[in-house]
Amino acid sequence: MHEMSLMGGVFEVIEQTLTQHEVKRVLIVKLKVGELTNAEPDALEMAFEAYSKDTKCEGAELIVERVPVYGRCRNCQYEFSVKTMLFLCPNCRNTDIEVIQGEELLLESLEVE
Ligand SMILES: [Zn+2]
Repeated sequence: MHEMSLMGGVFEVIEQTLTQHEVKRVLIVKLKVGELTNAEPDALEMAFEAYSKDTKCEGAELIVERVPVYGRCRNCQYEFSVKTMLFLCPNCRNTDIEVIQGEELLLESLEVE
């Protein structure tokens, strides 16, 4: 399951963050998930539960914010939202598009006590 490895990366960041602060437990974990990761919310939830077991994150609420895909045309630098995975510049019809948003799975914030 692809979500498990994505979540593994998130938990590395969470653990790093928690070692820098004194935290009793984590209440809410907010993630930003790019549409291009193809991560399913249910599978993310399952992966989260698996990773959070016996950690300070156990029982925390997972909030997933979907991030739409944005591309930038390498020809005219036009930036646009990529719909239906059509990587075509609406300005100059170039197909050489750099993805600038939508591939990431990031830890947005932690609420702790
Ligand atoms: Zn263009």
